[in-house]
Amino acid sequence: MRLSERAKAIKPSPTLAMDAKAKALKAAGKDIVNFGVGEPDFDTPDNIKEAAIKAIRDGFTKYTPVGGTDELKTAVIEKFRKDNNLSFEKEEIIVSCGAKHSLYNIAEALFGAGDEVIIPAPYWVTYPDQVVLNDAVSVIAATDEKTSFKIEPELLKTKLSARTKALILNTPSNPTGLAYDKKSLEAIAELAVKHDFYIISDEIYEKLTYDGFSHISIASLGEEIRKRTVVVNGLSKSHAMTGWRVGFAAGPKDIIKAMTNIQSQSTSNPTSITQKAAVEALTGPQNFIPEMVSEFDRRRKYMVDRLNNIKGVSCLTPVGAFYAFPKVSSCYGKKFNGNPINSSLDLSAYLLEQAQTALVPGIAFGDDRYIRLSYATSMENIKKGLDRIEDALSKLDNN
Ligand SMILES: *Cc1c(COP(=O)(O)O)cnc(C)c1O
Repeated sequence: MRLSERAKAIKPSPTLAMDAKAKALKAAGKDIVNFGVGEPDFDTPDNIKEAAIKAIRDGFTKYTPVGGTDELKTAVIEKFRKDNNLSFEKEEIIVSCGAKHSLYNIAEALFGAGDEVIIPAPYWVTYPDQVVLNDAVSVIAATDEKTSFKIEPELLKTKLSARTKALILNTPSNPTGLAYDKKSLEAIAELAVKHDFYIISDEIYEKLTYDGFSHISIASLGEEIRKRTVVVNGLSKSHAMTGWRVGFAAGPKDIIKAMTNIQSQSTSNPTSITQKAAVEALTGPQNFIPEMVSEFDRRRKYMVDRLNNIKGVSCLTPVGAFYAFPKVSSCYGKKFNGNPINSSLDLSAYLLEQAQTALVPGIAFGDDRYIRLSYATSMENIKKGLDRIEDALSKLDNN
């Protein structure tokens, strides 16, 4: 087999490896609690499903314009106006097969050999690989609890070079659940304008926020930063629509046009049926969201509280998304039955085998000191899983 250098450079996802292991154990009859999931455990609301069924019945089952129907683009424009105080024209919008697909189109449209893309860590697993797939270089900027996992201007400055093409921001963040406030965004925007690099702003968790946190899009902070920002959003998380594959991006016309050309030669339009469902999701009743958020909120509080009461574990309180990202590195160096636990992978494997609890090792997100637990699972599972983790960690010994 003679694979391309590009294909060879992509590493298999450690999250998928863990997932495969968890599924194998489950298939073997083990009672596994799965904290690994990256999607809401809620069903897509009925009004959205009905819109899709109607689209099928009406014969809305053919190709649409590549970058989305006018009807859906209009709904997306209205969403940005209402939620983010941003006004866009249709030529500044593209609808893709998921936010991930929009991000990939951006990477293809903007990145090339020699370009540097700054990615604050912990990061969403996909970003560095999308950079590599387009021959550019990821410049990782490690953050931690001291700055609530935000990249501060001082750190960002040390990562800039003449080759800096873009900074990928994700707020609220997967995996940390932390988010940027206006002041932090202003500082970043100032640097982006001064040094003339793009911001790719992944705002997919915008609607899932807690404790009164109010999401702000960096693109809304002024005309100069808006010209340099591509905002990515979608319905997978906010409307429990991960399987439908629809997401969108908004930004400068020339970038959106390039993305649309790329999409026209790769996937063509996102599914016509899904586009009808997306219009309903954006323009129909929104009461589903606060209901889901209040349930996530209950679980979030419980999970973070429990984690912080486990010896050797510490966890910041997330203000968005549905993940807790505790620091567990104080357990490293300990042993179970003589086997050392020295990394997030070791600890995750141990918890899967000894506590029947699946979660994602922090190394997958670029920081080995942490693990990620999703609370997009029932309160009953959360209680059971945390009891097991607490018990398993207490069995580790120092020699
Ligand atoms: C889930 C997720 C996405 C992708 O969403 P899709 O619309 O399903 O492709 C993008 N970014 C982050 C940070 C996510 O967690």
